[in-house]
Order: sequence, then C-alpha cells, then structure tokens
Amino acid sequence: MIYKCQKCGFIHEGEMPDGYYCPLCHSNFSFFQLTQKEEKVYNRKTISLDNPSIYRIDEKCINCGVCSKTCEKIVNVKCDGDCIKCGQCILTCPVGALTPKYDYNKVMDYINDPEYIVIAMTSPAVRVGIGDAFGYDPGEFLEGKMVAALKKIGFNYVFDTTFGADLTSMEEAYELKERLEKNEVMFSSCCPSWVSYAHLYHPEIIKNISSCKSPIGMEASIIRNYYVKEDNLDENKIIIVAVTPCTSKKQEIINTDCDICMTTSELALMIKENDIDFKSLDDEKFDSINGSSSGTIYGASGGVTLSVLRVLYNLYTNRDLTSDEVSIVKKDFYKEIKVKINKNIIKCAVVSTMANLEKILEIKDNFNFIEVMNCMGGCINGGGQVLMPQNEKEAITKKRTKGLFNDDVNPYIKYPYKNPIIKNLYEDFLDKPGSKKALEILHNK
Ligand code: SF4
Ligand code: SF4
Repeated sequence: MIYKCQKCGFIHEGEMPDGYYCPLCHSNFSFFQLTQKEEKVYNRKTISLDNPSIYRIDEKCINCGVCSKTCEKIVNVKCDGDCIKCGQCILTCPVGALTPKYDYNKVMDYINDPEYIVIAMTSPAVRVGIGDAFGYDPGEFLEGKMVAALKKIGFNYVFDTTFGADLTSMEEAYELKERLEKNEVMFSSCCPSWVSYAHLYHPEIIKNISSCKSPIGMEASIIRNYYVKEDNLDENKIIIVAVTPCTSKKQEIINTDCDICMTTSELALMIKENDIDFKSLDDEKFDSINGSSSGTIYGASGGVTLSVLRVLYNLYTNRDLTSDEVSIVKKDFYKEIKVKINKNIIKCAVVSTMANLEKILEIKDNFNFIEVMNCMGGCINGGGQVLMPQNEKEAITKKRTKGLFNDDVNPYIKYPYKNPIIKNLYEDFLDKPGSKKALEILHNK
C-alpha cells in the first residue's frame, strides 16, 4: 500500500498503523490518502550491523522509508552510506523498529559483579526526559528521583555531568579568548553528531571547532586521572557509565576514559526491569561530583553559549555576567546572543539541525562563537530520549527547555568558576585553564 500526505506530499509505503503521524509535517493519519503505485517509493535507510549507536529490529520494519526521509530531510545526511549516529530516525520510525543499540545489560553485568565499582554520570537532559516513561508531564525536572533510581539499581556512585560541563566552559572560554585575539571564529565541540557531520561534509572548518572534549569526555578523564587516585580506588576495577539522551555518544566514547554509554530510554528499561516503582522514590542527591546551573543548561540549545560567555566575561572583567547584560534575539533560523565585554561586542550564534548549520556557514564570519547541535532544540531531543509523539515535539521541546532553565536562577550556583569542586580541581591538579595538564587530558589532540 502507498499513502500520500495531503498536506506536505510525504509518501508512506506499507501499512498505516493507528496513531501514525506524518514525520515531515506532523499531520495525523487522517491526512493520508491511498495513492497509485507510480508514486515514488522510498527505500529504508541502510543501518549497518556495526553501527555502535542504532539498531534495526528487522521483524518490526514495515519498509515505510521514514528513516531515509528523516535522515535526508531532517538531519540533512544525503548519502545512504553516511550516518552521524544522531538517532533521529529512532524518534520518527512509526513502528519502533529502530532502537538505540542497547548497552544497559553490560552495565547490569558489571553492577552484579562485586569486583567492580560502577560509576554513573548523568547528562542534564536525562532528568527532564526520563519522566516520559513513567507518566509525568513532559519536561518535569526529576533529578532527585533519577539519582535515587540509579542508586537503587546498584550504581556505586552517581555523579552529575554538569561538572564536566562546567569544566568544558572553563576550558572553552579560555580557548575562545585566545581565538578572539587571533580574530578566528570558534565552533562548539560537544555534539558528536555535528562533529561527525563536519568531518564528512566540511573538513575545511574542523580547525575552527574547539579542541575541548565534551563534558562526558572531560568528566571521565578527571574521574580516571584524578578522583580514582584521590579515593584510592583500583583503576582497573572502575567502570564509568555515561547516561545520556544521545545515541551518538555511544560512538564518541569508543577508546576514551568512559567505558559504556547508555541512553535515557535504556535507563527507563533498566528501572522497569529492576521492578523499581519510580514514582514512589524519595529524592536523593548526587555523590560528590556535580556542577553549577551553567552545566545544567548545556542540555538545551543556547546553554553552552551562555555558560561559556559567563566564564569569558569573568576572565576579562573579574565580574559576574548578569542576565540584563546579555542580548538574545531570535532570528529566522538561529539565535543571536551578544555580550559587551569592556569595549568589544562578542557576537555568538546558536543553531540546531544541520540544515541550519549549512545556512549559518554562509555568514559564519559575522560571529565570534557558534554553538552547533544536531538535534532540534539541543540534547533534550536526542535520539536516546524516551519516544514522544512527533506532532507534540515543539511543545515538548519548550517544556524540557524550561525544565532545565528553571534550575538556572540561583546566582550563587550559576557560575562554573564559583563551583567549589572546579576551583579545588584547578588548585590541586590542573593549575589553570589551558595549562599543560589541562591540554593533555581535557582537549582533543
Ligand atoms: S526502520 Fe522504521 S522508519 Fe525505517 S523503513 Fe523500517 S519501519 Fe520505516
Ligand atoms: S542515526 Fe541519524 S544520521 Fe544515522 S541513519 Fe539515523 S537519522 Fe540518519
């Protein structure tokens, strides 16, 4: 059977399940009409078996071609052989035939082996996405319950990746200051799908991408190179697990200090399979490593830029940047963020989706810093989040963004350089941002 969406012309081949929505314009199935065989038939996207991030359950696939369309039209990956591991096809597959490649059983094996010390570090967007699996309103901020669930599952330590985000802001602001002095534009580096996209299609701009590792990369390096020794833990028995909204991180962590990456949707499965009643859990707090609210907002589009600007401003002025000194203007396909530092205006652009990236590249020289995320609205819409109805995507994105930014109100825990754990780490181990040690373990070569 071939159906055509009467609103946008999208062709759906195969059965039309109840509750189907158009992956392009989000109209519901009533807009689809049976059409003739001669209409173009879409082939499904090739997912190779060694893809570390996504997996197709062949028995479920109805060969509708939505994954190819998502990849081509939404993600902007035009060649069937290319994949930037973003997982957006998981979110749009109408029958759940695509999933993250599951790694949570490996994590359970380590937890059940008393020889190992298993450490979780949770990305900001997980706490506003996990509730979707347990009947909460979208975007509800469930940090305390998420930590309690991870401890109940059996993780020995639960750390917050907001700490790694604070560290990224410290190092990235330092790098940006150097590049400003050379009059070079710098792109953010924490979205691995965007970095893969640049390697595939824009090798000429790789030199402008920050050398900073992502928050996960930085935090895992610090745990392995510093905290393990401080706490006298056996380095060979430590398993570091990143819990993230992102399927692409499964590729990013290969051959790094982080051992396993599991997604929000895998965490939801883990909670259910361990018979944990998520709603009845009392809130618990992270173990010693956590970050400021500048780290929390990394999970939503614009958060990285604001955090880096806060540190940059302090580097030049020794003062705290306040909200009324930041101009944020929504443009047609990006957000413009400007801050005046001494006599200079620092001009930044925030884009999500690779189609918007292509447009910003044409005007990149107008900016000092460009934040790029593959997923619409940032990590909150990563391919590893719990599935959501695509026709409510925009509203859910707003709620998840609000959930994270609501945490960014207390001025005392707002600035990465005021985080006592960050201060102590530089005093005791790293010396200063951009030091020899910091470049060695926190930056990509
Ligand atoms: S994997 Fe999903 S989206 Fe892709 S063709 Fe199969 S059913 Fe359609
Ligand atoms: S993971 Fe992203 S890039 Fe890879 S096939 Fe799916 S949508 Fe395309």
